Amino acid sequence: MVEAEREEFCAFHYTNTSDGKCSTCGLSLCNLEQHYGASADRICQLCFNITKARKTVRYVQISIWVVIIALVITLWQVLGSGNVIYALLPIALILFVPYILRPLIFRLYFTNLLPKESILPILRYFEASGNNEHYKIFMKLLKRISEEELDEIRPALYSYLIPALAFNFSRLPEDWEDEMTTNLRVSKEDFVQIFTKDYRKILIQTSVHNAQENLSQFLIYLSKTADDKELLKEYITEITSAEIMALSENDLNTIYGKLLEDVFLFEEQFYELCDELNLEKEKVLLAQLLSRYEPPPVPKNQIEAVMTPTQLREKRKKERETASLPKEIENLAQDDPDLQLILDETEEKDKK
Ligand SMILES: [Zn+2]
Ligand SMILES: [Zn+2]
Repeated sequence: MVEAEREEFCAFHYTNTSDGKCSTCGLSLCNLEQHYGASADRICQLCFNITKARKTVRYVQISIWVVIIALVITLWQVLGSGNVIYALLPIALILFVPYILRPLIFRLYFTNLLPKESILPILRYFEASGNNEHYKIFMKLLKRISEEELDEIRPALYSYLIPALAFNFSRLPEDWEDEMTTNLRVSKEDFVQIFTKDYRKILIQTSVHNAQENLSQFLIYLSKTADDKELLKEYITEITSAEIMALSENDLNTIYGKLLEDVFLFEEQFYELCDELNLEKEKVLLAQLLSRYEPPPVPKNQIEAVMTPTQLREKRKKERETASLPKEIENLAQDDPDLQLILDETEEKDKK
C-alpha cells in the first residue's frame, strides 16, 4: 500500500487534492471549502461551524438562566416568605445544563458535514489535544460510516490515525483496542499489521523525529502484539543514527528532548531490548546520548508547575547566569587574593 501523505488530500474530501490550509486549525482543504473568517482568512467548515456555534450556545445558556431566575421569582411569590428555601430549587437545574448542551453542541459543530467528512478532522483534533471528548466523537463517527465508505476512506483514515494514536497512546481508554478494531471492522492482527507493515516507515520516522511522551511504549506494544522484534531494532537504530549522534548538545536537547525523555524514563527497558536484539553498539550509543541529555528541571513552586520544560529550562539558565556567587566562596576569596583574581577574571569574561 502506498503511504499517503495527509497534506496532499483534503481532510474533508479525501478524494480531492488539497489546495490550501485552514488558517485557524491548519487542516488541509480543497476547492469545496470556501468559508472565510472575520479577517478574510480561509477557514474550514468545522472552524466556521464552531465560531457560529459559540454564539448560539451562549444564547441558549442565557435563556436557561432567564428561565431559572423566572422560576425562582414565581415560586418565591407563590410560596410566600415562609418557604423561600423551596424557591431556590430550580437552581439545581444548572446541573443538567451540560447534558442539554452536549448534543446541541455536537449538532452545531457538525452542521453541513457528513460523518465521512468529519472523521479526519476530528481525528486531527484528537491528535493535537489528546482530549477524551474528541476520541469519543471519533468513535461515534466511525460507527456511523458505512462499510463501503469505510473501505474507500481507509488509506486516508490510517494516515491520520497513526500519528493520532502514537501521540496519545498513554491517554487512550483501557478498552481502546477492542473498541477500535470493532469499529474499524478489522481483526486485531490486521490492525497491528497496518502499523507495522503498511505504515512502518512513517511510524519509525514519527517516533524518532517527532517523538511524544510514551511513544516508545506504543512501539513496544506494537512489536509485542505483532510479534515483530525487527521493528524495535529499526527504532533503536534510527535513534542512534549518525544524524542524531552528530547533533550539538543544544540541538539534541531542544529537537529531540521528548525522545530522550522517553529513553531516560525507560532506560533499563531500552538496555534490555539492546541485549535481547544484539544491539551492542547501539546500547553504547544510547548511553552516550543519555549522558548528553538534560532532564527537565523539577518545578519549585506553583508558578513553575504550569511552565513547559523548555520554559523552565530557560528560566534555570537565566537564574544561573544572574545568580550571585555563593556567600562561602565570596568569604573565601576575601582571604585569598589569588582566588579573588580568578573570580574577577571570570566575571569579566561573563560580561563580554
Ligand atoms: Zn479549521
Ligand atoms: Zn474539501
